[in-house]
Parts: sequence; C-alpha cells; structure tokens
Amino acid sequence: MTSYDDLKRNIKNCRFCEEKFGFLPHPVVFGNEDSKIFQISQAPSSSVHMTGKPFDDLSGKRLKYSWYQVTDEIFYNPDNFYITALGHCYPGKTASGGDKQPPKICSEKWLGKELKMVCNDIYVLIGKKAAMYFFPKKDYNELIFSDNIYNGKLSIVLPHPSPLNIKWFKEHPEFEKYRIKEIRNTIKCTLQR
Ligand code: SF4
Repeated sequence: MTSYDDLKRNIKNCRFCEEKFGFLPHPVVFGNEDSKIFQISQAPSSSVHMTGKPFDDLSGKRLKYSWYQVTDEIFYNPDNFYITALGHCYPGKTASGGDKQPPKICSEKWLGKELKMVCNDIYVLIGKKAAMYFFPKKDYNELIFSDNIYNGKLSIVLPHPSPLNIKWFKEHPEFEKYRIKEIRNTIKCTLQR
C-alpha cells in the first residue's frame, strides 16, 4: 500500500503532461497527512511555477494577509495547511493570455488519493472550478455564502482571490464586508485546535 510520503513524492515527480504543456511540469503540493486545513484551488500561477511556493503571488497576498490574516509562518506550517489543486502544475497560457484549464487527468490521478490519505479537519475550496468539482449541482455563489459539508467535514468555498477577479467582487460587496469575517473566524478556530 502507498504511504502518504510515497504519494507526495509521486506527485512531485509527475511529468505526465510535459508533451501537452510543451514545457517541464512543476507539480506543487504542500502539507502533511495531518494538516488541519485541506485547501484546494484550480492550479498554480506562472510565478508559483517558477518558485514552487504555493500562493507566493498576488492571489496569495490577498488570501493570506487580507482574508485569513495569517503570517507566512502560520500559512506555510504543514501542520496547518495542506495546499493542493485540481491541477498540480501551471498549465501554460491560452492565446488570449489567460491561464489554461488544469488537465482533468491530474485530479483523476492525484486529488482523489490525497483526499483519502490526508486526515484534515476542514476543507477550503478556492474558486469556481474547485467548488464545482466538489459540489457540481450547487450554485457557486450560494456555496460561498454558506457553510457546506463534504466528506462529513465543514467545507468553505472562497471566490478566487486573483486581482483579475474584479467583476465578482464588485457584484458581491457583502463578501468582504461580512462573509470573510465568519470564514476568518472559522480558520482561526481550526488553527487553534
Ligand atoms: S498537471 Fe498533474 S498530471 Fe500533469 S504533470 Fe502536473 S502533476 Fe502530473
């Protein structure tokens, strides 16, 4: 049977999409099998592809310092956050300059195994793609404004913290006014356990 360390090593060594991407994949996964918060997003950005450090970019600044209000020391403590994504590698750019969709094969190959092996307290799903992967029949905005249950555990949904996600924040000012305070409280309580 594969141990968690084997799984993590196998993810980090995966080069399955090299031909599809046209460059060497750089899988990013962080945390341990007992991390309290299992955080899932869409895929690493181009800057995370270079550094290998998840959320070490503008989206990460908003997520860590404004929304969670935690230091890097807390965020990058593997006992606290398990950080993974539907696609573990930056997938390259589309012709119009946006990031490509994460390859579906990645969640099929790895995410299911991570979900089985990591013994977390809560889930945090970041962005519509991650939310719809877990709750395909639910409304994205309703998911953001409610406490959801996945796998018997509290499952919080966040909008994408990207600075490009301007329209959503304009249309939903109540997120930063009210909802994020509840979410921050949940994150803090979970980290204190
Ligand atoms: S995106 Fe996933 S499946 Fe593709 S190379 Fe990266 S880790 Fe492997």
